Amino acid sequence: MPARVDGREPADLRPVSIERGFIANSAGSVLFRAGATAVLVTAQVSESVPPFLEGKGVGWLTAEYAMLPGSTPGRKRRGADGRATEIQRLIGRSLRAIVDTRALGPFTIHVDADVINADGGTRTAAITAAFLAVADAVRRQFADRAREILKDSIAAVSAGIIDGTPMLDLNYPEDSRAEVDLNVVRLGKGGLVEVQGTGEGGVFSRAELTALLDLAESGIDRLGLLQREALGVDWPFPDAT
Ligand code: UDP
Repeated sequence: MPARVDGREPADLRPVSIERGFIANSAGSVLFRAGATAVLVTAQVSESVPPFLEGKGVGWLTAEYAMLPGSTPGRKRRGADGRATEIQRLIGRSLRAIVDTRALGPFTIHVDADVINADGGTRTAAITAAFLAVADAVRRQFADRAREILKDSIAAVSAGIIDGTPMLDLNYPEDSRAEVDLNVVRLGKGGLVEVQGTGEGGVFSRAELTALLDLAESGIDRLGLLQREALGVDWPFPDAT
């Protein structure tokens, strides 16, 4: 079995740290770290909706994602490229899966994810952190109605195959030599929201996909416990076991 560069077992997550309320001016904000990957996510609520929803009484959630210039070993140029555009749409779709836009009413929740340090898994870190920022923003802005607006929790993690071994939560050195790379987004209660899988230059089997999904789901279960601990409330997590 190949050793991981940071000494983890294949099914281990990287150490996670969560700091809520990092930005005083945002209704919800979280500094989320998974190993060396660090993402700062804010959530703010505005009293408006995009033109296609005007007059319909429903709300919206939208997301932006960026890597700060200093977040990568070589300076990352500012401005959304194709990758950032894909990732911010993924973050938006993922978070909309837990928001009841009718209960929200004519408001927009803006999620902004900025990668402070990139070491693999930044999109999944952004989604896991965005849940916490959105939960805080919704609680602060809508108080008792928060329970109707946020129906569930959501988290995401990557998994991949390296030298034939399925591994959870790849860092950049692992990601860059993985034979298969999978990003999994799942509701806290269960139910896949999005699965992005890539056979990096090759193909992967149904059995490998199943092994990676099992690994990712076990990671998402653990991330859910960390989210719940960070938020300090049982809502909107599945019943404690
Ligand atoms: N990366 C980078 N510069 C880029 C894109 C990616 O340094 O322009 C690195 C970064 O560490 C990132 C990793 O490659 O976390 C994997 O990128 P990927 O596109 O797979 O997305 P992620 O795993 O971060 O969601």
